[in-house]
Amino acid sequence: MSVDQNPIALDVVVIGGGVAGLWLLDALHRQGYRCVLLEAHQLGSGQTVASQGILHGGMKYTLSNLIDPGAKAVAQMPLIWRDCLAGEAEPNLSQTRLRTDFCHLWRTGSARSRFGMTGARMVLRVKPTEIPKSDWPEALRDLKGQVYNLPEQVLDTASFVADLASKHQKRLLKIDPENGLDFERDQTGNVSAIKLTDGDHSLTLAPKHVVLTAGKGNADLRAKLELDDQAMQIRPLHMVMVKGNLPKLNGHCTDFSQTRVTITTAMASDGQTVWTVGGQVSEDGVKMSPEDLVRHAKNEIMAVVPNVDFSDATWSTYRVDRAERKTASGRRPEGVTLMTEGNVITAWPTKLVLAPQLAMDVISKLDMQPAGESVCIEDWPRPEVAPPPWELAQNWMTLD
Ligand SMILES: Cc1cc2nc3c(=O)[nH]c(=O)nc-3n(C[C@H](O)[C@H](O)[C@H](O)COP(=O)(O)OP(=O)(O)OC[C@H]3O[C@@H](n4cnc5c(N)ncnc54)[C@H](O)[C@@H]3O)c2cc1C
Repeated sequence: MSVDQNPIALDVVVIGGGVAGLWLLDALHRQGYRCVLLEAHQLGSGQTVASQGILHGGMKYTLSNLIDPGAKAVAQMPLIWRDCLAGEAEPNLSQTRLRTDFCHLWRTGSARSRFGMTGARMVLRVKPTEIPKSDWPEALRDLKGQVYNLPEQVLDTASFVADLASKHQKRLLKIDPENGLDFERDQTGNVSAIKLTDGDHSLTLAPKHVVLTAGKGNADLRAKLELDDQAMQIRPLHMVMVKGNLPKLNGHCTDFSQTRVTITTAMASDGQTVWTVGGQVSEDGVKMSPEDLVRHAKNEIMAVVPNVDFSDATWSTYRVDRAERKTASGRRPEGVTLMTEGNVITAWPTKLVLAPQLAMDVISKLDMQPAGESVCIEDWPRPEVAPPPWELAQNWMTLD
């Protein structure tokens, strides 16, 4: 067994390689902090790759006409992403594929949903603009109501994870959190060393700070560190996927304070188009079987997307939990949340789009100047990028 007797001195060890951890690792590295990221499974394998990839500009937060602080925080972020995706700011994300450069927004025609639209216009940096019928997407051609353009970009989430990870291959370490990860604490309770084991290899890291960005995995890591493991809440979703000869559609159908459905479109590796369907449908579906949810989702989609023929489509579902800092009400926190306990920071972004804010918030809490050095760790297993849910689904159903 080769044992590394010399601990590697690091400024920050980030644990968890979804959007939060990867963006943070990149920001730390660019500012000259000595940092690495530890990933237990595949990069983005919690929520990030399974998400719909929409860079929300606050629309979903203002549908009830309440201009809440969450909407203000999120309103700044899409512009940062837009520059990065164009390769005009760091991190340079020009290799990330976009599913679309803008979404559509349409409503079911109720008076209540018109009020929601007015509130959204007041707060957003990205504003919905009503578009003439000639520009409506094919799937909405016979809709009775209005259609808006919403400048929310939609990421191909797996390509985003791959793009950001490619800049840091030698700072990404695959770990076994159950059998190959041990923390050492000093008398004050701070983490003084992290011991990694992988078969015959071992590695000791000596970080000044540890940041937990493991999404749902933060609970286990916090338990292992003897920190309060009840600090997090999970909010489950049951998402729907439809595959077939479908038109491209990305956007939200709103009904007052609800997003009735959110649809995003991707291309599967078998060449078929896949819609991922979230919004209220995926909340309603939590208590449903996949079969019941697919039937419910089909009815909902047919009610709000009038021009699509689903006769040849196949349907599937996946379950995934949103992981966030616990709130008294159990509702979504208003933005990025951090907990600092000694030299351990636990962070949840709440939304993909808030990852840049999370990185800024974490770095502002580090009581040290970076040495201006970078770290490369050779000879250690690297995590792969998680595949999207439609590549993993086994049971595709047909409906009459
Ligand atoms: C279905 C769904 C759709 C969504 N759609 C959108 C959207 O369109 N737009 C938007 O802005 N937000 C969306 N979100 C929210 C967004 O996806 C999340 O807020 C964000 O991805 C959370 O990122 P994260 O890095 O904190 O966690 P995660 O993406 O969950 O990443 C955590 C990482 O930590 C790893 N890990 C877990 N345990 C350990 C451990 N013990 N040790 C090391 N590593 C570990 C995991 O394998 C994973 O790679 C959606 C969420 C869901 C569930």
